[in-house]
Amino acid sequence: MFHVKHERYDVVVVGAGHAGCEAACAAARMGAATALISLSADNIGVMSCNPAIGGLGKGHLVREIDALDGVMGRVADRAGIQFRLLNRTKGPAVQGPRAQADRLLYMAAMQAEIAARENLGVIEGEVVDLVIENNQIGGVCLADGAKILAQAVILTTGTFLRGVIHIGDHAQPGGRIGDRAATRLAERIDALGFALGRLKTGTPPRLDGSTIDWGALEEQKGDDTPEMFSFLSQAPSVRQISCGITHTNERTHAIVRENLGRSIMYGGKIESIGPRYCPSIEDKIVRFPDKSSHQIFLEPEGLSVDTVYPNGISTSLPADVQEAYVRTIVGLENVRIVQPGYAIEYDFIDPRALRQTLEVRHVPGLYLAGQINGTTGYEEAAAQGLVAGLNAANKNCGCQDVIFSRSNSYIGVMIDDLVTKGVSEPYRMFTSRAEFRLSLRADNADQRLTPFGIGLGCVSKYRERVFLRKQAELESARAKLQACQFSPRDLLLRGLKISQDGKKRDGIDVLALQDASFSVLIEANEDLERVPPPIRRQIEREAKYQHYLIRQEREIDAIRRDEAWLIPDNFDFSGLSGLSNELRSKLTAARPATLGQAGRIDGMTPAAMTLILGRLRRANSKSTKR
Ligand code: FAD
Repeated sequence: MFHVKHERYDVVVVGAGHAGCEAACAAARMGAATALISLSADNIGVMSCNPAIGGLGKGHLVREIDALDGVMGRVADRAGIQFRLLNRTKGPAVQGPRAQADRLLYMAAMQAEIAARENLGVIEGEVVDLVIENNQIGGVCLADGAKILAQAVILTTGTFLRGVIHIGDHAQPGGRIGDRAATRLAERIDALGFALGRLKTGTPPRLDGSTIDWGALEEQKGDDTPEMFSFLSQAPSVRQISCGITHTNERTHAIVRENLGRSIMYGGKIESIGPRYCPSIEDKIVRFPDKSSHQIFLEPEGLSVDTVYPNGISTSLPADVQEAYVRTIVGLENVRIVQPGYAIEYDFIDPRALRQTLEVRHVPGLYLAGQINGTTGYEEAAAQGLVAGLNAANKNCGCQDVIFSRSNSYIGVMIDDLVTKGVSEPYRMFTSRAEFRLSLRADNADQRLTPFGIGLGCVSKYRERVFLRKQAELESARAKLQACQFSPRDLLLRGLKISQDGKKRDGIDVLALQDASFSVLIEANEDLERVPPPIRRQIEREAKYQHYLIRQEREIDAIRRDEAWLIPDNFDFSGLSGLSNELRSKLTAARPATLGQAGRIDGMTPAAMTLILGRLRRANSKSTKR
């Protein structure tokens, strides 16, 4: 695992959490000599909070990372102890693959990926300073005095920048429980003139599973046919387990209510903003006073450990209060708390300082990815790590920027949201953030992004072969379906409700009908039996959405036209007469890279867009005349 510490690399990645691991692997896959620096090499790939990967919106990100040969999907598949496709009964666009992971197996699998990766070395140490010469990044300095030079540096320090841990009224510096905070680096970043903010997040107490009365709980099993994250994985690698479901009750709420004054969140001691969609138990009870109960999932943290993560009761109440309220819950009457829940406050950097490549505009060569940009969640962090890693490697060899768009990926949606709008609370991904979610499905992430990855050079030969084989199977199945013709009478006889308009339909048109499935077509044409089941499912999904997708394609084209108008870095918004002062300052702060991005800034008007477009057109005609 340990490698010789060199003095010079192409890319240095600071932090080996979810953003850092993905960034380092991406840069190394692109051929850059890369160093991954972590406070502790044993903690590479630690899951700081819940032992789970994926979910709604987040599962899409993992599939997209995998489509570009990133590591998170494969690692989660190796460590997965329960797989569930969320929203299974809803449309494929909003279904989200999720897996509960064995924490130790996850870390081991991530560390194995990193150890096996060519071009990638690990350095244990604390980064305390950045080497910056002529406003350009030149490397990092470690606490032991060593200087490590690099063309590009990616900071992925998570919750560690001036992190403070709170349990009740006890506060102590820390990056997460058991780890020290990164204070010197935060001070250095502060001095560089970044706009910094403060956010907070919390985690529940960890429980001793052997003291839980599992017999009193509802059992939640995984899916019978597990959906893996990676397009390369076939089945889970390890034994699968069940979770338990229980609920808070009036007695639990009464204890929490009585002690709100002892919670850091409600004692008025900290003002930073927490994740709206992962509220603490204190938040839930205050925000929903009429609810007499909240659901809790009891999720075992692994196959070889007894600790259990009670999903739904994160808290910063004092340890004695945590013990008292937890023991009011059915199944937890005699539970032992192994580690109290806690809240953490940390610095983040306003991501509007970044280009769409995640490079800091005023310090070329410096990239930021993960929680440092105001996001929350492993998947959001990993996806940013991938983008920063690819771009840092490309910058190093003088190649093109790697830009993701809102119309090709959730990755593009997230980056665009961050760099255009900034964050006012921890940002997490949802399917509702993507305007083109019918085409950005988790099931087709490989078709959207693997060809792009092959072009970039970040996809292995093995994945390329697997992908091309699948493409060939899809094309052959589509051709077979297009060759089949069915009369309305034929279809009626097969039990499909259809108007008797005399119009013949091909197999794909038939699959677009609400009640039609591949099995109906196989009855009519046995040749279709040879189409493998995963290919059948894929084509069924495509067919069901085809009419909507044609409509969406027009909207995507309009966005592409706006995205094609590039706004130069030195574009002077303040000199644009007719623009309101508010928009002038918003545009100057966000520095949109394209006309499309400018259009997504809060408060933008069609008139303001016309003004910018007019200026771009004039500049363009001048440069063509010259
Ligand atoms: P991290 O995973 O935090 O990794 C940071 C890395 O940087 C570590 O390896 C650390 O050693 C290294 N590092 C830091 N400073 C230095 C330095 N100066 N030199 C060298 N190395 C350094 N997410 C949710 O989605 N929902 C939640 O409810 C939730 N709750 C959370 C509760 C807590 C208490 C914590 C700590 C996190 C929580 N998270 C939650 C967030 C989740 O853990 C993060 O989103 C995710 O881990 C961020 O990944 P990252 O790679 O940005 O940072």
